[in-house]
Amino acid sequence: SQTNDPVLETDEGTALPADALVVAEDVHKSFGRLEVLKGIDLEVKRGEVMCIVGPSGSGKSTFLRCVNHLEKLTSGRLWVNGELMGYRQKRGRLYELRDTEIALQRSDIGMVFQRFNLFPHLTVLGNVIEAPVQVKRKPRAEATAMARELLERVGLPDKADAYPEQLSGGQQQRVAIARALAMEPSLMLFDEPTSALDPELVGEVLDVMRDLAEGGMTMVVVTHEMGFAREVGDSLVFMDDGMVVETGAPAEVLGDPKHERTRAFLSKVL
Ligand code: ADP
Ligand code: MG
Repeated sequence: SQTNDPVLETDEGTALPADALVVAEDVHKSFGRLEVLKGIDLEVKRGEVMCIVGPSGSGKSTFLRCVNHLEKLTSGRLWVNGELMGYRQKRGRLYELRDTEIALQRSDIGMVFQRFNLFPHLTVLGNVIEAPVQVKRKPRAEATAMARELLERVGLPDKADAYPEQLSGGQQQRVAIARALAMEPSLMLFDEPTSALDPELVGEVLDVMRDLAEGGMTMVVVTHEMGFAREVGDSLVFMDDGMVVETGAPAEVLGDPKHERTRAFLSKVL
């Protein structure tokens, strides 16, 4: 919305945990009469890799889209890197941000989708420098140097001049990761990044994500790759029907699930 009227009274004294990069507080999201998120409370610490698993339709994608404010919450609050997403606080009141201001908040969050979403008419290098040049106004030479480093990091140094259609799905997804990293985000969101890939291409994308996690990136990863969740994840969240059913260390949740719904889900995917 483009209004700039105060919409909510702030509760002065809301103190966020210093080590939390993402704080979701009672997040609700409805589409019309369909309530998709029914009060999500989650905290992601700086440097943490949180994996979210759950049945199709449980609200995982909607939650990720709420984190970067691609979807506006119906109620609740969501902070990323100290910023209350969608709002600015002024004289003890909250004001809804304009779309351009929200875009600025969002530029601190990288997102990688199931489908690679590369610009088909741009080369790999063009895809990676697009946002830094257009949104951040980074000088082209600087953006290009950084893009080449990122392509090196995702194992594609020789693909800078290729077009997306000339790449495999796994290579395209690695470019998508490099493109997100080019904005130097403090948080990376992954929505089933390997689900659309042929099985033999899954590993190369997970390897890049593992490398990113080892480098200290804060990540929220919706995935069905339980091996990745167990080995790379610091925490595992099981979502069902718009709610967090269970959360804990991956080995704990996978090895000794406390809830029947978690057990039922895991018995199908493990
Ligand atoms: P998941 O990612 O866990 O499979 P989603 O978040 O995609 O689940 O979807 C949760 C529910 O919300 C589904 O019932 C889906 O149909 C519904 N939904 C998602 N986006 C929209 C939308 N833009 N409009 C209406 N319903 C939606
Ligand atoms: Mg989804």
